[in-house]
Amino acid sequence: MDAVVMGNVDYNKNVMEHFRNPRNMGELEDADAEATVGNPSCGDVMKIMIKVKDDVIVDIKFQTMGCAAAIATSSMATELAKSKTLEEAEKISNKDVSLALGELPPIKEHCSNLAADALRKAIEVYRKKTA
Ligand SMILES: [Zn+2]
Repeated sequence: MDAVVMGNVDYNKNVMEHFRNPRNMGELEDADAEATVGNPSCGDVMKIMIKVKDDVIVDIKFQTMGCAAAIATSSMATELAKSKTLEEAEKISNKDVSLALGELPPIKEHCSNLAADALRKAIEVYRKKTA
């Protein structure tokens, strides 16, 4: 058996691993930009903070209150964005995040959209600040 049932939802091992051991979770001191996005359908709220140097995301952290899918995708999205240029990070799509995790249950797809949205929003905030 490689799926874990939580609240009647089957998550694959990779999702559960990121949910149990999220990467880059916490507060980022002196972040250059941050963005918060929410998802009314399951009440997920995600905040992403980035630190940028020479157009590269040198550090990234997230704080997510939400379901397992929201936390796992936050963790994966921050992993994908770390050490990338702003231009590269901006191109990380919702699909990239869910593909990197394996597979998300269809009813949890809306949760997986949060992470890439928050990331793009944080980059937008940063660009506006530094324009
Ligand atoms: Zn959710």
